[in-house]
Amino acid sequence: MVKPFSAIQRNTYLEEMENNELDLLVIGGGITGAGIALDASVRGLSTGLIEMQDFAAGTSSRSTKLVHGGLRYLKQFEIKLVAEVGKERAIVYENAPHVTSPEWMLLPIMKGGTFGKLSTSVGLKAYDKLAGVKRNERRNMLNKKATLEKAPLLRKEGLKGSGVYVEYKTDDARLTLEIMKEAVHRGTKATNYTKAETLLYKDGRVIGAKVKDLVTGKTFDIKAKRVVNAAGPWVDDLREIDGSKKGKFLYLTKGVHVVIDQSRLPLKHAVYFDTEDDGRMVFAIPRDGKTYVGTTDTYYDGRIASPRMTQEDLDYILKATNYVFPSLKLEEKDVESSWAGLRPLIHEEGKSASEISRKDETFISDSGLISIAGGKLTGYRKMAERIVDMVAKDLGVKGKCTTDKIVLSGGAVGGSNGLAAFQKEQVKAGMNLGLEKKEAEKLVKLYGSNVKRVYEIIETTGEEAKHFHMPKSLYASLVYGLEEEMTVSPLDFFNRRTGSLFFDIHWVKEWKEQVVNYLSYRLHWTREQREQYIEELEREMAYAMNPEEKVQEKTHA
Ligand SMILES: Cc1cc2nc3c(=O)[nH]c(=O)nc-3n(C[C@H](O)[C@H](O)[C@H](O)COP(=O)(O)OP(=O)(O)OC[C@H]3O[C@@H](n4cnc5c(N)ncnc54)[C@H](O)[C@@H]3O)c2cc1C
Repeated sequence: MVKPFSAIQRNTYLEEMENNELDLLVIGGGITGAGIALDASVRGLSTGLIEMQDFAAGTSSRSTKLVHGGLRYLKQFEIKLVAEVGKERAIVYENAPHVTSPEWMLLPIMKGGTFGKLSTSVGLKAYDKLAGVKRNERRNMLNKKATLEKAPLLRKEGLKGSGVYVEYKTDDARLTLEIMKEAVHRGTKATNYTKAETLLYKDGRVIGAKVKDLVTGKTFDIKAKRVVNAAGPWVDDLREIDGSKKGKFLYLTKGVHVVIDQSRLPLKHAVYFDTEDDGRMVFAIPRDGKTYVGTTDTYYDGRIASPRMTQEDLDYILKATNYVFPSLKLEEKDVESSWAGLRPLIHEEGKSASEISRKDETFISDSGLISIAGGKLTGYRKMAERIVDMVAKDLGVKGKCTTDKIVLSGGAVGGSNGLAAFQKEQVKAGMNLGLEKKEAEKLVKLYGSNVKRVYEIIETTGEEAKHFHMPKSLYASLVYGLEEEMTVSPLDFFNRRTGSLFFDIHWVKEWKEQVVNYLSYRLHWTREQREQYIEELEREMAYAMNPEEKVQEKTHA
């Protein structure tokens, strides 16, 4: 049976898109584009999506990985934004509980800090109200003693107490993939490594795009009644091609996160703290035996595809972390991994990076190109609704957005209430297949209800895992990634499919050779391709583990 989202079938999907005019072509496979494709497919529009890198390889795998209302924006009186994305948290959680989990955040109140006791209490209460927070997740105010019981490593000097409240932690890349997979299962045709090189026009109206498959070098003309530019930080590049980059334009700011082992930064709860130097707010979030800390927020005008952590970014985060957790004395060698992402913000005269609004904006050009930029991961569904409402109305398609009720791929676990029982049962099922408990837990957490497919792969394959010198769990993950999540390269697998480049870099080092061998065999790489993919993985590992300057020094040495 031909799988609808297999790396082996990319050419077929592209030919199908070329041979049939679409209702909607979406350019960009980050969370914005994926959300639009899902909504459009659910409403019956024939939809295609092309992504020039891997899905989520732009900003959507490089965020703070929170489904949150953005408490910080209350300070800027962005009431509407906080209310909208705040309410969305519950929907994202219910529809994809396997990639979203509640996380108690502790907001320390320090003498001279951003928020005082009263403003924290009032601010968090307002947040609860605006975001319609569930009763058992509403804010709580703690005195100094109770705060230190929850976070004993916090700086005691100047600590007055804290506010605790709930946000949701996610895996941004996997959330994007689950939306993409759901869209594909509902009819979207989508391929990664396919670039819109130029737009196609008829009588001054945009009617599609000339796209290039960057794996095979083949080009395709994809025609569509409407074209949406959801290219994130590249939105202006396409507006430029369209000759419509006028008025407002993008302003890119870089945000860096670093990953530290829990043995060096042990936190029971996430902490959202002020930096000593510039009073910005930074998260420290526990996850899978690690804690990640970030972010920075600085103007960026380098290569959009490869923002990197510089020495200055690293020093800034370590200094801020050592200030709030002074006994730890963290050093550069404690940083295991890192990532850097670009916020596609809309330029606002006279405002600093942190002050610019995070709300999304839509631009419609004279040619009919619809561009959408800005926004948040959390608000992806509402952004999609606005765009698809517009397209559907234009095309005379009736029906409203219903994606609030659509369970995403992997999310069929009996809702958030059923998740724990589902996980328990499936871990048991995995162990019955001969997996170690830890291996089964990892698969269940990664794939949610799709773990059943991953288990089927284990059941139906004979000696292949052994032949490729891999444990069965890794083998099944890789086959599933290749055949049902369009994994094309080792980096796709280690970064966007499993998150291990950031949260388990030792695992990447242990298995990279076997993963390369298997993908090479299944995708019939030439020797040159194999070398390129290995080089790409090694390069990205080096940049994840070291500041940019050090990697460049080594490469030029
Ligand atoms: C440091 C940081 C922290 C953040 N933290 C959070 C958070 O915790 N919670 C939250 O809700 N939001 C957060 N955000 C915001 C959120 O990550 C972004 O709003 C969101 O990921 C943007 O998604 P997108 O799809 O618009 O862009 P992208 O994910 O960048 O997707 C655009 C895609 O378009 C593709 N593309 C571009 N040009 C072409 C072309 N010509 N042909 C084909 N494809 C093309 C690109 O390759 C890219 O993959 C954060 C952002 C940053 C930078």
